[in-house]
Amino acid sequence: MDSVKIIKQKVNIAQIVMESGVELNQIGSTGRYIGICPFHEDKNTLFNVDSVQQQFHCFGCGAHGDVYTFLMKYKNIMFKDALKELAIRVGESLVGQRPKGKKEYEKEQCYKFMLRAVEYYHNTLFDKFIGMEILDYLEKNNITRKMCVKHKIGYAPTPEKYGYKYLYNKLNSSQQMIALKVGLIARSNGKVYDTFRNRIIIPIKHKTGQYVGLTSKNTGNEGPKYLVSKESMIFKKDQQNVKFSEKLAYILSCHE
Ligand code: ZN
Repeated sequence: MDSVKIIKQKVNIAQIVMESGVELNQIGSTGRYIGICPFHEDKNTLFNVDSVQQQFHCFGCGAHGDVYTFLMKYKNIMFKDALKELAIRVGESLVGQRPKGKKEYEKEQCYKFMLRAVEYYHNTLFDKFIGMEILDYLEKNNITRKMCVKHKIGYAPTPEKYGYKYLYNKLNSSQQMIALKVGLIARSNGKVYDTFRNRIIIPIKHKTGQYVGLTSKNTGNEGPKYLVSKESMIFKKDQQNVKFSEKLAYILSCHE
């Protein structure tokens, strides 16, 4: 199978559409979503996104297509750029774009890992045994579940219940090395432990769409109130707003 198909299978079109800023509502527990079409003015026609068929369709203007068509149309970009953006997102190497140097390879591994870590923490927030209380807490603070999905907000659980190696234990040995490199795992006195524990996590996204780091706020008393992941080969703190409060203000402003 070629990269175009593989990438399309790996992404969820509804997630991409929502992250692009289009509000969607899921119809029951189906893979179908409806919202307001971003491609024409009329607010009364249905814009459908089907994450099973991996397609979108507007009954008003007739806009129709797959995740690539959506990105090309929405961001006004060429197919190759949409492909590249999604390839980075799912960690798929494109033929002819295989990184040449060791450094580029390492960077690619860091991006891949960071995406995985963001997903682990995000899934933990939505794990009904672990994250429900935190989801309720967020909702009380005007962060709805939909916003959590859109911005991939996550939760690193309490070590009292889930140990100091919640993330670490989910990783294979090469991922553990990368986790150390990007600062999601720390080592002290020969012991390793997760850097983020008992914390609400907001991922830090580069303008290319890649996740580069995490910012967090504690939900207990352990450690500093706010904690940002350390600088790494993919993350420079001075290049973007990295404070938890700024990320949160941004998320709240997107909701208006
Ligand atoms: Zn339309």
